[in-house]
Amino acid sequence: MSSDAMSTKLSRRHILGGACCAGIAAPAIGLGLVPAPVLAQATDHASHGPTTNLTPQEALALLKQGNADFVNNVPFAAPVDAQRRLEIAQSQSPFTVLVGCSDSRVGPEILFGRGLGELFIVRNAGNVVDTAAMGSVEYAVGNLGVPLVVVMGHERCGAVGAALSVVGENATFPGSIGHMVDPILPAAIKAHAEAGADAPEDEVFAAAVRENVARVVTELRTSSPVLAGPLAEGRLMVVGAYYDLDEGRVDFFMES
Ligand SMILES: [Zn+2]
Repeated sequence: MSSDAMSTKLSRRHILGGACCAGIAAPAIGLGLVPAPVLAQATDHASHGPTTNLTPQEALALLKQGNADFVNNVPFAAPVDAQRRLEIAQSQSPFTVLVGCSDSRVGPEILFGRGLGELFIVRNAGNVVDTAAMGSVEYAVGNLGVPLVVVMGHERCGAVGAALSVVGENATFPGSIGHMVDPILPAAIKAHAEAGADAPEDEVFAAAVRENVARVVTELRTSSPVLAGPLAEGRLMVVGAYYDLDEGRVDFFMES
């Protein structure tokens, strides 16, 4: 083990031990047992081990290459074996935050040919950013030093379709589904309003998906104090993406 890795391990154990001995409740949030006091230090990368050294542009290029391989049926060769599992067992250094839809057809690691510990993923129906999602993205950028955030919508997204049906047909939904769809309504309204009278339904649908992604990208770029610094310094990019279910291709947009 290198001295750097050793000191990282020691400092991490020291931090975790300190939280323990001080009697501070340390709610595990599924991100590697990070105690609350460390989470509060939103720009303290050093406490979490080494971060990726990829630039935003390099991270994006890796995703594009991985998706091209997926489209071309290149056999999946991402690191997912026991050796990789052990390499990252003590700390993680993902290179992309992926905000995507829960849809079973759009699993990010598969679409981009990535393995364990590479993508930090936030998924919900309609790839929206609520408080939990925003905090997750901020944690990944602020604490893990992730240089790229991708917001990815997809063709025939059920959540966006639900929003379009609210706009077009006053549809209603049981339970919490209606509230879940609410943040997508502005995108659905815009796509609906801008579509010509004879616009094909799938075109309106795709426009609504892209508009929803664009709104989330803009929200991430403009409303987070944690992301603002890295964005201004060029250490972070937030981009949009659209996944074509039929072709398997991811089209990136809002790259600058
Ligand atoms: Zn979806």
